[in-house]
Amino acid sequence: MIDVFLTMFSHATRNSLLKRLQSEKFDLLVIGGGITGAGIALDAASRGLKTALVEKHDFAFGTSSRSTKLIHGGLRYLKQLEFGLVREVGSERAVVHQLAPHLVIPEKMLLPLYEKRGFGSMLTSFGLKLYDWLAGVKPEDQRKMLTKKQTLKAEPLLQSSDIKGGAIYAEYRTDDARLTIEIIKTGFRNGSLPVNYSAVTSFIYEDGKISGANIFDAETNTTFPVYSKTIVNAAGPWVDELRELDQSKKGKRLHLTKGVHIVIPREKLPVKQAIYFDVGDGRMIFAIPRDRITYVGTTDTNYTGLKDEVYASKTDVEYLLDAVNKTFHGAALTTADIESSWAGLRPLIHEEGKSASELSRKDEIFESDSGLISIAGGKLTGYRKMAERVVDLVIDKNFRKGEFKRCYTNSIPITNPGFSSYEEVKRFTRQLMMQATTETTPYIYYLVHTYGLAADNILVNASSKGLLIAELNHCLDNEMILSASDFFIRRTGTLFFNMQRLTSDIEVVLVAMKERLGWDQTKVDQERNRLKDSTKLSGQFL
Ligand code: FAD
Repeated sequence: MIDVFLTMFSHATRNSLLKRLQSEKFDLLVIGGGITGAGIALDAASRGLKTALVEKHDFAFGTSSRSTKLIHGGLRYLKQLEFGLVREVGSERAVVHQLAPHLVIPEKMLLPLYEKRGFGSMLTSFGLKLYDWLAGVKPEDQRKMLTKKQTLKAEPLLQSSDIKGGAIYAEYRTDDARLTIEIIKTGFRNGSLPVNYSAVTSFIYEDGKISGANIFDAETNTTFPVYSKTIVNAAGPWVDELRELDQSKKGKRLHLTKGVHIVIPREKLPVKQAIYFDVGDGRMIFAIPRDRITYVGTTDTNYTGLKDEVYASKTDVEYLLDAVNKTFHGAALTTADIESSWAGLRPLIHEEGKSASELSRKDEIFESDSGLISIAGGKLTGYRKMAERVVDLVIDKNFRKGEFKRCYTNSIPITNPGFSSYEEVKRFTRQLMMQATTETTPYIYYLVHTYGLAADNILVNASSKGLLIAELNHCLDNEMILSASDFFIRRTGTLFFNMQRLTSDIEVVLVAMKERLGWDQTKVDQERNRLKDSTKLSGQFL
C-alpha cells in the first residue's frame, strides 16, 4: 500500500526526501530546478530512470519565474531565419496547452503595423502565415490581417497617427513559475526526487568520470554526497559556473542578457488585449493585461553582474516607460506609476560579434570528458523537447539500448488530476462561480488558473479557515514551500501581480507559517525582511 504521507510534497516529508537522496544511488542527478531541469527530471523518471533533482534556491528561482510568461513560437526568430526553432516551439504550444489547459491559456496577440517603423503589411501577412504553417496552427486560429479601423477598434488606446493596420495571431500565456512547480510535482509523482534549497558545491569522480556531487542543504545546514551514474547540469545562467567546477569550460560559453518587465496598475494602462509592438529601434515589446495589472517588457541587454540578484535598473525602466508613452495615447507614465517589476537572465550561447538581441535562442548541449552533460539556451516553451533530447543522450551514452522507455511526456498531464480541455476549465470555473461566496467570488478565476482542480478543495477549506489560510495550507501541504517568499513570489505571483494583497497578507502568512513550520521570532523577522527587500527591489530602481 502506498504511504499517503510519503507521497506528500511538503516540508513535513522533506527530511525523508533528504535521507533518500543520501542513501540511494541514482541513474540521473539533475542540477537546477528551473523549467529545463524540471522537464528533464519528469522525462527521465517517467521513462524509468531513478532520478533526483537539486535546486540551490526555490524551484523556479532563476529565469523560470522572470520570463514574459508566454508559451509562444517566437515570431521574431523568423526574422533571424530560425525556422527549425519556430517550428519546434510553435508546435509545442498546443502540446503544453493540452497538458495543462488551466495554466497555458490561449491568448490572441495584436500586432499593430506602422507607417514608418517595422515591417510592411505584405511581409507581415506572409511572415505570420509562415509562422502559423510552421507551427501547424488550426485554420480557425490562424492570423487575420486588420485594417487601420479594425486595429484601432481592437485596441483603442493605440496612438492612431502612425498606424496603417495590424494583425491578430494566436499565442498562449502562462505563469512560468507555476508551470515549473507543476512539472516538478508531476516528476515527483512519476518517481523523481526533487529537493529545493540544496546546492551542488563540488563534483565527485571515479577514474576521471563523474560519479556524484557534494550537496549543501541550506535548510538543515548540512553537506552530504549524492551518488549518481550520470549528472545533467541544467543550471540556466549558472551553467558555466558548474562547467568550471568540473574544469570543463572550454569552447562555447554562455552569454547572459538581462530582460526586464514592469507592472502598471490596469487603470493606468487599460489595454483591452495583449499587444506586441514595434518600438522603432529594432526591438519589439509586449504589453499584456492580466487581472488588475498590465505588464510590459522586455529589454535585452548584456549582463555581467551578480546572477543571484538581478533587478531592473533606472535605464531599463525608463526605456520601457518611453516605449509605452510613445505607443499608447494618454499614457504619460512615470516611475511613480510602476507597481512592481522583475528581471531575468537569458542563458544564451555566445557568438562572436553578435549583439544581445541577435544571439540565437536555440538550446545547446555540451558534454565534458568527465561525462557531465550541460544544457543551456532554449525557451520555456520548448522545455519538453529539450528534455527529450537530453534524456535520449543520457540513455544512449550510459545505459543498455531498450533498458528504458521512449519519451512519452506528450501524454502525461502536468497536474493531478488534470483537465481534458480548455472547455472543461471554463465549465469548472462557471461551476465554482455559482457556489462562491462574496469573499471568494473575486478569486475564483485566479484560483482555477493557479491551482486547477485543486481550487475546489481550497474553497472547501476556505469556509472554515478563510481563503488566505486555505491557500497557504494547500501550498504548505502540496508545493514544498519553505519560506514566505516561496509563497508570495513563485507559487502565487503576488509580489508581481498584486502588491496590495502582499501588503495586507504578509503578517497573517508569517504568523501561520511560524505555527506550521515551528519558526522562532528571529526566523519570522528574517523572512519579513527578506520579503521587504524583494518588494523594495522590485519597485525601486537601482
Ligand atoms: P533557470 O530557470 O534559471 O533555472 C536554473 C536553476 O539552476 C536556478 O533556479 C538556479 O537557482 C539553479 N542552480 C544554479 N546553480 C545551482 C547549483 N550549484 N546547485 C543547484 N541548483 C543550481 N521563454 C518562453 O518560452 N516564453 C517567454 O515568454 C520567455 N520570455 C523570456 C523573457 C525574459 C526576460 C527572459 C530572460 C527569458 C525568457 N524566456 C521565455 C526564456 C525562458 O524563460 C528561459 O529559457 C528558461 O526559463 C530557462 O530555464 P532554465 O531552467 O534553463 O534556467
